[in-house]
Amino acid sequence: MDYQQLLESIYQEILPYAKEGHQADYIPELAKVNPDQFGMFIHTIYGETASVEQADTRFSIQSISKVFALAMCLSIKGDELWKRVGREPSGTAFNSLVQLEIEKGVPRNPFVNAGAIVMADILLSHLADPEADFLRFVRAVSGEESIDYNLNVAISEREYGYLNAAIANLLKYHGTIENDIESVLHFYFLMCSVEMSCRELSLAFLAFANHRRKFDYAGITLTASQVKRINAIMQTCGFYDEAGEFAYFVGLPGKSGVGGGIVAIHPLHYSVAVWSPRLNSKGNSVMGMKALELLTTETKESIF
Ligand code: GLN
Repeated sequence: MDYQQLLESIYQEILPYAKEGHQADYIPELAKVNPDQFGMFIHTIYGETASVEQADTRFSIQSISKVFALAMCLSIKGDELWKRVGREPSGTAFNSLVQLEIEKGVPRNPFVNAGAIVMADILLSHLADPEADFLRFVRAVSGEESIDYNLNVAISEREYGYLNAAIANLLKYHGTIENDIESVLHFYFLMCSVEMSCRELSLAFLAFANHRRKFDYAGITLTASQVKRINAIMQTCGFYDEAGEFAYFVGLPGKSGVGGGIVAIHPLHYSVAVWSPRLNSKGNSVMGMKALELLTTETKESIF
């Protein structure tokens, strides 16, 4: 498979969508990003790579960080984790409050904001130095030491983070989080603010694509079954109320973020990351979704 040629032709095919959608502006710092950018990087488990456009430009990974948080929580808590958070798709928006109220403070899954806020709480309770430890893990799994938080993005999100604060308050009311609300929110926003490029993300997610390789990064270890189960949750919950659409059009486990990034894996084949800041109404990158749909159409391979 000539992935380089394929990615170049995919890029040409998605150009008509270049002005569709709007970048996230509820986080003021993200509204400053030039929306007219696109990058894509693919990494096969055999070490082949291909890329187009701004594959080396770093962007705010936002909710893609929830996969890293889940890997850490599963490594630390094992199946105990599932007492605090579910693993069923939500069918609701990533920041929805409704379900959380009805289900008495137990988030549907680790990838809706409520679930990720619970994971932030767990990491705060169990790690010696959560901020440094999270970064150490992300750096180890992507093999890139210069990856860092963007404090401005985290602070800007907290300033306007009324909805996430409401979620954290509801969780605290139901006793699902242990630490004080401000510390949990700060750490949650900080994890979301990590900046990575498509190249770095696709390399990091090879660890999930290739579950036969030992998963052991900066002290975070997972069994092959645990890695496969994280992939299952990416498949069913990675795109919130668009998880069905993503399975239908793309057919790969993946995770999106409101920074415009999407990472998807084809188990035992490849890991691919795309980025373009313009989002659809569900908060997923328009060009990113289209590019991944074309990838599995052109290669005639998805998990189905
Ligand atoms: N930090 C964002 C939020 O909490 C993450 C959302 C996302 O990327 N879907 O709203």
